[in-house]
Amino acid sequence: MEKIAFFGLGNMGGPMAANLAKAGYTVAAFDLSPTALEQAQRDGCQPCDSAEQAIEGADMVISMLPSGDAVKGLYLGEAGLLRQLPSSTLVIDCSTISAEDASLLGHTAAELGLRAIDAPVSGGTAAAQAGRLCFMCGGDKAAFDAAQGPLQVMGAKIFHAGAAGAGQVAKICNNLLLAIHMTGTAEALQLGVDQGLDAGVLSEIMCESSGNNWSLANYNPYPGTMECVPSAKGYAGGFSVALMLKDLGLAMDAASTSASSTPMGALAKNLYQLHGASEENRQLDFSSIQNMFRRPAGRQA
Ligand code: NAD
Repeated sequence: MEKIAFFGLGNMGGPMAANLAKAGYTVAAFDLSPTALEQAQRDGCQPCDSAEQAIEGADMVISMLPSGDAVKGLYLGEAGLLRQLPSSTLVIDCSTISAEDASLLGHTAAELGLRAIDAPVSGGTAAAQAGRLCFMCGGDKAAFDAAQGPLQVMGAKIFHAGAAGAGQVAKICNNLLLAIHMTGTAEALQLGVDQGLDAGVLSEIMCESSGNNWSLANYNPYPGTMECVPSAKGYAGGFSVALMLKDLGLAMDAASTSASSTPMGALAKNLYQLHGASEENRQLDFSSIQNMFRRPAGRQA
């Protein structure tokens, strides 16, 4: 079985690497966090002390990092991994970053004779654990085809959106819409509760009605309505407000380059900025936007 060097073992990368190890790949894992490395070892990966150690003998490199700067820092520049990898290596970057950064990575890899795709994901931590992510890929079709083995272990739906960077465009459009329906769902649920309805009953009704959407049906932000989602555990884990703000920033930047109108996304970004003004809130799952709509104790109708 092929050897994979895996970088970034956080909320998403941790379970993705674990699924690859479970499927029989040799996974050489590296993260800046010792705690993440210890968990990766318990999950069947080989923890590495450095990026250089992880890529020794690797057929593929997969990364799941928090930002474009982290991705560029790992791969680009004189000391970057792209200059150290043999030309047969396949690079799959699953991080959510700008289309420009992804395109730069793809084109630099091609100049060095490597194959690379951007492969950001949707589905959240539950889908990462279940190996049921949705991958949106950009890059050369031959590289996309070569990536099918690991992508099918980690995901249930795999799309080729177009050339290098196209996966990231699909991803930011998706997350723009996600932020809009999550904030709208939180607003509607709070209105119902303020009017005396039970949030669970209201959710059940709207799930069978025209207000149904992924945030309501799969990731309900109102505590007590659903088990095994961040709202059931104080909004811990999941997809942080900080990462959602990053994605909305990428979407707004993209909108300005194509002169696109994105007023709903701008409003959602504004709400997340207000909510994320405290560092504590920035680390909570993005469904904690529900707290923005909660009526402060003592405020009467
Ligand atoms: P996270 O913060 O939990 O994990 C990121 C990990 O990367 C951390 O463990 C960090 O130590 C590590 N890291 C940072 N720089 C590194 C480097 N140079 N080398 C090795 N490791 C490094 O983040 P996450 O929630 O797992 O998200 C990762 C990416 O996936 C982000 O781009 C995010 O936007 C995207 N994403 C997240 C979700 C979600 O639900 N959490 C869903 C879809 C996409």
